[in-house]
Amino acid sequence: MSTILSPGDVKLRDGRSVDFANLDVAATAPCLRAVADAVAELLPFYGSVHRGAGALSERCTREYEQARETVADFLGARDGDTVVFTRNTTDALNLLARALPGDTTVLTFDAEHHANLLPWRRTVHLDAPRSPQEAVAALERALSRQRCGLVSVTAASNVTGEVWPVAALAEVAHRFGARIAVDAAQLAPHAPVDLAALGADYVAFSGHKVYAPFGAGVLAGRADWLDAAEPYLAGGGASANVGSDLGVNWTTGPARHEAGTPNLLGAVAIATACRALADADHAHERALVKRLRDGLADLPHVEELRLFDADAERVGIVSFAVLGEEPGELATRLGRDHGIGVRAGLFCAHPLTRRLLAEATARLDPGATAPAHAVRASFGLGTTEEHIDRLLSALRRA
Ligand code: PMP
Repeated sequence: MSTILSPGDVKLRDGRSVDFANLDVAATAPCLRAVADAVAELLPFYGSVHRGAGALSERCTREYEQARETVADFLGARDGDTVVFTRNTTDALNLLARALPGDTTVLTFDAEHHANLLPWRRTVHLDAPRSPQEAVAALERALSRQRCGLVSVTAASNVTGEVWPVAALAEVAHRFGARIAVDAAQLAPHAPVDLAALGADYVAFSGHKVYAPFGAGVLAGRADWLDAAEPYLAGGGASANVGSDLGVNWTTGPARHEAGTPNLLGAVAIATACRALADADHAHERALVKRLRDGLADLPHVEELRLFDADAERVGIVSFAVLGEEPGELATRLGRDHGIGVRAGLFCAHPLTRRLLAEATARLDPGATAPAHAVRASFGLGTTEEHIDRLLSALRRA
């Protein structure tokens, strides 16, 4: 039995039915069967979390806090770390941005998803580096010139799938007295993300990218900034006591930033996904990355997007420029004629994707105009070799 819930066959324009090849897993991953089972098991016991007595409320409160512990274990949380349940990665990074001590300057590279570019208020942007080593050297140069309180980097790019040297960047950041936050939205589904092992101070990721449903995410890391900050949302759960003059004592701990009734099912879903991912073997995904990249390299009108060298480490994400066909139309046709789901666009990383599209187009044909959008194939636990081969053969015929 598959570990992934699958939509089954889809009907093509010519009337045939095929197994749907979901190659848009980086946007949202399918749900793990274990996650669906854990959520279904809890549904009859639905009750309020931290807000009631009685068997249901007790059970739901216990399950919620156990989910937090499971996620803390999965992330290698240290003493002094906390796990806050958020809505997704975007929410987690916005929460951290609001919790920064007053005058903290944040350093990012121009290679980030908008979720790790737009929330920060005082920022220093470094040019996207051309290799992991260059990223480390550029950070070192920048921090020796300018004081920054936080460095915020992606662990794996949602455009190229390239893995960033987070542990080395963390070592440099700490040497200059800065903390480091890691956008692990795209690494968490493919590899362990361990705060202690990476030396990261904060990590953010989304449930819907780690094979759990929408609506829950995580910000984990050093509790001190979070405990000292104004609550992310004002309301019940975040307030320990409210006087008749509406003077508030805010709680400390994760509840300070989890005002409103908590998302129990989301937390349990994420925790279950973390447990499953801790045991997952990702060798299959690495083999599929190679299969797809080797196949694309043989296509004369297609060129992959990359920032680093061709042999840099990657997760299951490959974006490419296609000449001779409008990318949105190509994506639609792949869906209707071949039962393949990919994404055409700039992937919420507009500066990076536009730049890499221009470079990829120039490698293909120096005189050509770069397409407005790239095409991205991304995959994970449920992907098969046949899905990859189907995409390659459809592109070959394009
Ligand atoms: N960072 C990266 C690297 C991502 O790929 C994404 C999702 N595309 C996000 C952040 C934002 O995730 P979410 O939409 O779940 O908040």
